[in-house]
Amino acid sequence: MNNEPFYPCQECKVGTLHRDYAFFFTIQGGQPICVPDFPAWTCDLCGRRDYDSVALTKLQAIFEPDHRSRQEQHQSPKIADQDHTSVPVDPQVHI
Ligand SMILES: [Zn+2]
Repeated sequence: MNNEPFYPCQECKVGTLHRDYAFFFTIQGGQPICVPDFPAWTCDLCGRRDYDSVALTKLQAIFEPDHRSRQEQHQSPKIADQDHTSVPVDPQVHI
């Protein structure tokens, strides 16, 4: 019944990473970006937190400097509305 994959913590090697959501803040193109519920993984033992690599990639794709949609202001990205519950992730991937 347990269909949640097991991800060992890279920090303490003993704990297990659990799906979590954390406040994420970054600056992209001089604009402060705040995501209150950013997908992350938190170790149940040492508390180490890794932001979800897939979500980070998506965020970078939205705000990448070469993205010309900044000139088209009729549609702004809504990160918080994305469905982040069914995204397959691998917390061991580091970019
Ligand atoms: Zn740990």
